[in-house]
Amino acid sequence: MHEKRTEITQLGEFGLIERIRNSISTHRPDTLAGIGDDAAVVDAGNDALLWTADMLVEGIHFDLSFTPLQHLGHKAVTVNVSDIAAMNGVPTHMLVSMGLSNRFSVEAVEVLYEGIRAACTQYGVDLVGGDTCASRSGLILAVSAIGKAGKGKVVMRNGAKPKDIVCVTGDLGGAYIGLQVLQREKEVFLANPDMQPGLAKYAYAVGRQLRPMARTDIVHELLEAGVKPTSMIDISDGLASDLLHICNQSKTGVRIFEDKIPIDTQTYQTAALEFKLDPITCALNGGEDYELLFTIKPDDFEKVKNHPDIHFIGYITDNADERVLVTKQNNIVLLQAQGWNHFRPSSESGR
Ligand code: ADP
Ligand code: MG
Repeated sequence: MHEKRTEITQLGEFGLIERIRNSISTHRPDTLAGIGDDAAVVDAGNDALLWTADMLVEGIHFDLSFTPLQHLGHKAVTVNVSDIAAMNGVPTHMLVSMGLSNRFSVEAVEVLYEGIRAACTQYGVDLVGGDTCASRSGLILAVSAIGKAGKGKVVMRNGAKPKDIVCVTGDLGGAYIGLQVLQREKEVFLANPDMQPGLAKYAYAVGRQLRPMARTDIVHELLEAGVKPTSMIDISDGLASDLLHICNQSKTGVRIFEDKIPIDTQTYQTAALEFKLDPITCALNGGEDYELLFTIKPDDFEKVKNHPDIHFIGYITDNADERVLVTKQNNIVLLQAQGWNHFRPSSESGR
């Protein structure tokens, strides 16, 4: 008799997580939210404790031929802090676990920790533990962060309501274009090791890829402005995919407008002119920008409308079958979750 075997590619990352989610039930009264958001929420008296974990794996998430270890350490902290920010919380403590192959020296680990330390200082987080073990397949960094928010302040993915305004911080697509540049320069270097990579022209996009920043500043500013988003997520997989998470969990539709999507000029030009990529596609599906995507009540618009780094890209609708982008030509395109699927059979992205 044959045992049934389902390839992980059939389900994809989200499908697999959904399957795990359906197999787990929580029992404790202090578990306020389990699997399914940017972080878990645990009752801690006056505060809610937020708890998240994110792993970075060599060859999947990073390529050490162009990723300085210091930046990698910084990014490993950032991606976790970003998930705490996405719950409208403040990060407080962190555990760092790593698997190391014998390619890595003590000095290399020290450089990695320089980046980890710098990020912890920047975000005001204490590193309080972790685990270290050997690895046969390169470097694995598994970080877990906790943070807190006042009990009524936690923002989940499921609170968006029709007419809410969809907001996004910063600009999108840069991290993806940065990765394209780094991969191209790597190819050039491999073909001709005398060629020095010319990255100066792409400093912004490359910086977005190698050294993203979590938007803890926005969480603080929204609080100051007296605005509590109705839903929020950080953009790790791409605007389209992450907006669909909000819509799925909030059971809503959405309409966003192509001409409102923030894209940096350098990102735009590099995408269009050098890589022949549609900059909007990069913004929708690129991922790894670690900006915040959130919805606010229409009444709160006045309070944030002049914020220089918050962009208003559309609105939530009650039609859950219509989650669309309105193009500059006024065409309507269905949003699709093309985010990153690390399980796809022939991943060329190196992430
Ligand atoms: P994010 O992109 O915000 O880090 P993920 O897509 O990685 O979120 O995870 C979505 C949700 O699934 C989170 O609540 C996360 O804690 C949970 N999750 C992911 N992997 C597992 C797992 N192996 N077991 C249990 N929960 C998981
Ligand atoms: Mg997230």
